[in-house]
Amino acid sequence: MRNQLFIDGKFVDALDGATIEVLNPHDNSLITRVAEAKAADVDLAVDAAARAFPRWSAMAAADRGRLLLKLADRIEEEADELALLEAIDTGHPIRDARNIDVMRTAACYRYFGGMADKFQGSVIPVEAGFLNYVQRVPIGVVGQIVPWNFPLMFTGWKLGPALAAGNTVVIKPSEITPLSTLRIAELTAEVGFPAGVVNVVVGYGETAGQHLAEHPGVGKISFTGSTAIGRRVVEASKGNLKRVQLELGGKGANIVFEDANIKAAVNGSAWAIFHNQGQACIAGSRLIIHERVADEFLDQFIGLAASIRLGDPLNPETEMGPLTSTIHRDRVLSYVEIAREEGGEVLLGGKAPSDPALAKGCYVEPTIVRAKASDRAAQEEVFGPFVTVTTFKDDAEALAIANCTEYGLGSGLWTSNLSRAHSMAASIRAGMVWVNSYKRVNPGSPFGGTGQSGYGREMGFEAMNDYTEAKSIWVNVDAQVPPHFQR
Ligand code: NDP
Repeated sequence: MRNQLFIDGKFVDALDGATIEVLNPHDNSLITRVAEAKAADVDLAVDAAARAFPRWSAMAAADRGRLLLKLADRIEEEADELALLEAIDTGHPIRDARNIDVMRTAACYRYFGGMADKFQGSVIPVEAGFLNYVQRVPIGVVGQIVPWNFPLMFTGWKLGPALAAGNTVVIKPSEITPLSTLRIAELTAEVGFPAGVVNVVVGYGETAGQHLAEHPGVGKISFTGSTAIGRRVVEASKGNLKRVQLELGGKGANIVFEDANIKAAVNGSAWAIFHNQGQACIAGSRLIIHERVADEFLDQFIGLAASIRLGDPLNPETEMGPLTSTIHRDRVLSYVEIAREEGGEVLLGGKAPSDPALAKGCYVEPTIVRAKASDRAAQEEVFGPFVTVTTFKDDAEALAIANCTEYGLGSGLWTSNLSRAHSMAASIRAGMVWVNSYKRVNPGSPFGGTGQSGYGREMGFEAMNDYTEAKSIWVNVDAQVPPHFQR
C-alpha cells in the first residue's frame, strides 16, 4: 500500500513530513497515514509535470495510447487488489468495487488508449490560395481534483483523456480516499509512463487543492465535488485564466409514470439511489411518482429497500456498505431531522442500523422520505441513501417538479409510451437522461451537467475537446495572392 506523494516518478514524503490519517469507514480503524502535500509540494509536482510536458506531448499519439492500454491491462490483472483497496478506503461493497469500479476504470483507460491516435484535427475549406488546418493541441499541465465517492473510477475519467491528449497531470485525490489513486500512479510507472507525466499530491482541499487551482503553471483544472467548492475553484482559477471543467452536485429526478413497468422501475430506482450508499452526483435522489401508481410502487420499493443487505464491505454478500466518513454520515442524518421539521414523513430508515457489528462504522439505513418538492430535503444534495418521494397528476406537473431544482445532472424516467419518453427526455433540464434505466455510463458517452451541476464534459470526444485547444494554421499555397498594399 503506497502512502507517500508521487512526484516526478518517485514516491516521496511531504517536504515538511506532515501526514494525514486514512480511516476504514467500516469501523473507523486506521488503515495508514498518508503524506500531506502543502503548497510547496504542489509546486514541485507542477514543476515536474511542466518538465515532462514537451517530451510527452511530442510523443507519437499511438505510443501514448499504447501506455494507456497497458495500464488498462494491468488494472484488470490487479482487479482483486484494487477492489480491496477501494473497499477498505471508501466503504464500497467489494462486489461493486470489483465488478463495477475496477472494470469501468479499466474500460475507461482502454477507451482513451484507443482514442489517442484517432482524435484528429480538421482542414477547413477557406478561400482559394490558402490551406487552413486545425490541430487539437494539449493544454499543458492539467490539475485534477477528485472527490472521495468514486476515487478509482473518477481518477480514470480524468487521467484517461488528459493523458491521451498529450497533457501532463497533477492530481489531488481527496485525503479521505487516496489509496487507489496512489496505486494507479505506481502502475503508470510500472508500465512505462515517463517520470513527471502523472503526479499525485494527496492533501486537504483548502491547502493543496486551492493552491493547485490557483497555480499559474496549471493550464486547466478539472474538478469533481460540491457546487460550493466548484465556485471557489472558478475564483481561484482567475489569476491565469485557466480553463475549468466542473462536475458538481446533482438532485436527480427519477420519474415513474402510470404506464411504467413497475417491477423494473422499482428495481432501477433502488439502484439509482442506493448504489454506493447514494454517494453519487447522478443518484436518483428524488422519486417523482404518478399518483395512480404511487401506492403500488412504494409498497414494492420500500420492501426492496428494507431487504438490502447492509454490512461489512468485505463480505461478498453485502449490497450496501458504510458512508465514506463520519462527518458525511452525520451530514446525511441531519437531513432526516431537516425533513421531519419540514413536515416530511420517514417511510423507511432515517437512522444508523442497530446491528452492533456496524456500530463503529459510518452506516445509515436505506432511507425513504415523503416530502414536498420545495422542501430542503428535496432540493439540496444529501449524497446518501436518502430518497424523497413526491407524487404528480400529469406530465406537466412531473416536468415542473423535475426541473424545480438548481441542479441539472442525471435524471431518469420510466414509461412504456415512446412519445412521452422522447418528449420528456427533451424537456428535462439535465446533462444525462436515462429512459427505463438509470445510471448508465460508458467511456464513449459524454458525462456532465447544466445549471449548478457544472459545465464541460467528461468521457468521449467531448472530454478530448475539453483537454485540448484548437490551433488554426493558415498556409499561403498560392503565390498569386495579391499584396494588401499596392506598391
Ligand atoms: P468537496 O467539494 O469539499 O470536495 C471535493 C474535492 O475538492 C476534494 O478533493 C476536496 O479536498 C477538494 N477541495 C475542497 N476545498 C477545496 C478548495 N478550496 N480548492 C480546491 N479543492 C478543494 O466535497 P465534500 O467532501 O465536502 O462533500 C460535501 C458535499 O459535496 C457532499 O455531501 C456532496 O453533496 C457534494 N459532493 C459531490 C460530489 C460529486 O461527485 N459531484 C463528490 C463529493 C462531494 P478535501 O477532501 O480535502 O476537502
